[in-house]
Amino acid sequence: MKHLFAAVALGFAATTTMAQNNPDSQYASWPTYSGDDLELKIDKHGTNFTLWSPKADAVQVRIYDTDRNSAPVRLIDMARGDNGTWRASIPERLYGKFYTFAVTIDGKQLDETPGIWAKAVGTNGHRAAIIDMPATNPAGWDQDHGPRLDNITDAVLYEMHHRDFSIDPSSGIVHKGKFLALTERDTKSPEGRATGIDHLKELGVTHVHILPSYDYNSVDEANLPSNQYNWGYDPYNYNAPEGSYSTDPADPTARICEMKEMVKALHDAGIGVVMDVVYNHTADNDASNFSLTAPGYFYRHRPDGSYSDASGCGNETASDRQMMRDFIVNSVKYWAKEYHIDGFRFDLMAIHDIETMNEVAAELKKINPSIFVYGEGWTAGDSPLPAERRALKENVDKMKGIAVFSDDIRDAVKGHYSNAEDRGFATGKPGNEETVKIGIVASTAHPQVDYSKGNNSKFAYAGAPTEIINYVSCHDDLTLTDKLAKSMPGSTEAERQRAARLAQTIVFTSQGTPFMFAGEEIFRDKKGVHNSYKSPDSVNAIDWSLKTKNADQFNYYRNLIRLRKEHPAFRMTTAEEIAKNIVFDKVSSPNVISYSIRNNANGDEWKEIKLVFNGSTTPFTAKIPKGNWTIIARDGELNPDGLGEAKGGTMVVAPTSALILAR
Ligand code: CA
Repeated sequence: MKHLFAAVALGFAATTTMAQNNPDSQYASWPTYSGDDLELKIDKHGTNFTLWSPKADAVQVRIYDTDRNSAPVRLIDMARGDNGTWRASIPERLYGKFYTFAVTIDGKQLDETPGIWAKAVGTNGHRAAIIDMPATNPAGWDQDHGPRLDNITDAVLYEMHHRDFSIDPSSGIVHKGKFLALTERDTKSPEGRATGIDHLKELGVTHVHILPSYDYNSVDEANLPSNQYNWGYDPYNYNAPEGSYSTDPADPTARICEMKEMVKALHDAGIGVVMDVVYNHTADNDASNFSLTAPGYFYRHRPDGSYSDASGCGNETASDRQMMRDFIVNSVKYWAKEYHIDGFRFDLMAIHDIETMNEVAAELKKINPSIFVYGEGWTAGDSPLPAERRALKENVDKMKGIAVFSDDIRDAVKGHYSNAEDRGFATGKPGNEETVKIGIVASTAHPQVDYSKGNNSKFAYAGAPTEIINYVSCHDDLTLTDKLAKSMPGSTEAERQRAARLAQTIVFTSQGTPFMFAGEEIFRDKKGVHNSYKSPDSVNAIDWSLKTKNADQFNYYRNLIRLRKEHPAFRMTTAEEIAKNIVFDKVSSPNVISYSIRNNANGDEWKEIKLVFNGSTTPFTAKIPKGNWTIIARDGELNPDGLGEAKGGTMVVAPTSALILAR
C-alpha cells in the first residue's frame, strides 16, 4: 500500500477536535454486542440471523436460490433484539441458499448487503451463502498445522501475489493465478527448473506472505477471462476468500475449499502462510458493507462529517471503537482457526490503535503460539487518532508480539523508495552508514550506533529484534531490479545483480526478520512500473525462464537463506544480546561497514563472524584479526559451507560486495 514515512505521519499536527464538535463522539453511546452468532448461525433448530444495527428502524433478510440475477424467494422481517441487534430464525437449515440484509434508517431503505460477517459468498460477493462449513475441510485438516517457530526472527518471509507467481506460461502450473497453483508439485519451467511449491522449498523460505486474499472489489468475478489484475487492497468481504482466485466464483464452497487446500499443501511442504489484511479502509464509502449495516459507526470522520482518510483510499476505519475493534480481532481469529493462517501482515497498521493491535496479538497467541503479526507502522495521511495512540513503528515497543517494517534499512541500503534515481549504501551513495547500522541492530539500542544520524528515525524504537522486519523491496514501489536499473544508469546487468546481492546480504544477516519480494531471487522486474496495482500480467507476472538465465543469482539467494537458517547468530532475540555480541569496527572510508558477531551468539557454533560490507566503487582493505578463518562470502559469491580459508591480516573487499568470515 501507498505509504509515507512514519516521521511524516507523526509530523502531522494531531487534529484534536473538541469532543462536542466531533461528529464521532455520538458513537460511544451506541450499544455493543459481543455474541459469537452475528449474522448467521446454523444449529439443530434451523437458521438464525442476527444483525447489529442499533440505529435501524427495520431490517429485512432476503433469501435467494442463486448468487445473482434472481428475485428473492423469501423476505423475512427481523425483530429488534438486545444490544443493538436484529434477529430472525427459520426452523430449517437453508443450506445452498443465499441471503442479504436490507436495513432501513430514517425512513430510507439502504441497498442490500451480505453483511460484514459473510463467511461464504457467491460471484462478486454480493450475496452471502449458507453452506456446511465443516464440509469444506480437506482430508487431514484436523492434523494440519504450519511450521512451529519459537520466534518470528526464525522466519524467512516471501511476499507474493497469486497471479504474479503462477500466471505466466513459463510457470508450468495448471491452475494459473489461482489458490490451487500453490498445491501443485513437480511443476517446472520450460528449461526444467522447479517452479511453484518446489521452487519455494528449493529457495528455503519459511513462510509465504500472500497479498490480500479476502474477497476484494476490483476484479469482476463474472468476467474472469478478461484477465484483470489487482493487488487487492480494496476490501469488500473481509471473512470470505477472493473469488477470482478460485476455479468457480459462483460456487461459494470452491473458493473456501481451494484456499484451504492451498494452506494444507504449503503446510505439508513445511511452509507457513501469512495473510495480508487491510482492515484500515474499505473499497467504498457509503456503499461498503459497514456503511450498509450500521452507517457511520465503523469509520472516522472529520469535523465537517466527511470521511477522514488516513489510508489515502477515501476513508479510514475506527479501530478505537468497540465494534470495529471486535471485528478486527474476531476476523483474524476466524482466519487463524478456520483457515489455519500462520501470520498476519497489517496494511497501514498505524491507522489502528495500539490497544487493538495488542488485543489482536494476544488473542492470536492463544490460538497458536507460533502465529506472528507485523505491519506497516505508518499511515498514508492524517488521522483524528492521536499519534500517541497509533500503532506507529515508533510505538512498536508498546505492542507486545507485533513487528514493524524497517523503512530505515530499506531506504538506507537501496536509496529512497520514492526517488527512483536516488542511490543507497549498496549502490555507492555515502552518508547512509549509520542508518544501515540501525538496520543491522534491528533499531535496538546499541552503544556504537548513533541514532541522531539516522535518516528516518532518531531513536532506538525497538525493544527487541523480534519487533523488526527487514527488507529492501516489496510489492510497493520499484522492484529491487528496477530500482537498481533506474539508480545505476549505464551499469551492466551483472553489476546490478552484484548490488542486489550486497543489498540482500545486508538484510539477511541483520538482526530482525528478513522479508523479500517474490521473484527477486531470479532478478524479476516490473518493467519500471512502481505502482503496478492494476497493471497487466505483462508487467506483474514472474517469467520463470529467468531462473535459468539468472541461475547464479538464484543460487546466491538460496545460500544466503541457508546461511541465516543454519546460524542463530543472525537471529538473536533480545536487545541485550545484540548490544553484547555485535561489535562494530572503526572505519573511516565511506560506504563501508565492518562488524563482528561474537561469543557464539545465540548458541551459534561459530565463535565469531566477521562481516565487511563495501558499497563503494573502489576496493577496501579490511583489517582482520589473525587466525584461522573460513571464508563464507567474498567478491559476490557466498557459501555457508565455505569458499576457502584465510589467515587474517589485511584482506581486500571488492567493490559492491560482502566479505563474511567465520571461526
Ligand atoms: Ca471479489
